[in-house]
Amino acid sequence: MHKRILIVEDEPAIRDMVAFALRKGEYEPIHAGDAQQAQVAIADKVPDLILLDWMLPGTSGLELARRWRREALTREIPIIMLTARGEENDRVAGLESGVDDYVVKPFSTRELLARIRAGLRRSREDDEDGSVTVGGLRIDGAAHRVFADSPEGEQPVQIGPTEYRLLHFFMTHTDRVYSRSQLLDHVWGGSVYVEERTIDVHIRRLRKTL
Ligand code: CA
Repeated sequence: MHKRILIVEDEPAIRDMVAFALRKGEYEPIHAGDAQQAQVAIADKVPDLILLDWMLPGTSGLELARRWRREALTREIPIIMLTARGEENDRVAGLESGVDDYVVKPFSTRELLARIRAGLRRSREDDEDGSVTVGGLRIDGAAHRVFADSPEGEQPVQIGPTEYRLLHFFMTHTDRVYSRSQLLDHVWGGSVYVEERTIDVHIRRLRKTL
């Protein structure tokens, strides 16, 4: 079974180009030209990863990413944002909205496929159960969910896939300090180029979540 990748992009030429690249990587591309079509595609079958254009007619990619991170059905799907060159601030906003990575247009097939592989690897369920409890935090590895103690009892914590991986790493490696490059190796896999600022954004998001 090929992994299904949803492409949300309003420009047919770019969509076709991306779909071509995906087929080369042995992924199954699903097309959507706007937010509404994307919702229909997700309702039909949840994709393994979403490639999301920033500039869409109607609902923007940013709004869509925020919405998907709030909903249980889509919360853990890795999202890679497609941005135009020079949208530096937008990219940080995108990461803060729950996007896991971004690819700058124009991109090569090789770069796109490398990002997708990394995104899919990050989202993969743990082979072992992977459950761990530290202090008032508990990770249910089988369900891929995080719970926190509160005066009202244990409460579920809404968390994105990269933050989940970071938190799981920290909770299974307590009492140690890691550099950004070490975190890259352990959490991102080290095979793709990730800016240090990207790590900072995910750490900030994790702190905010906790
Ligand atoms: Ca566009």
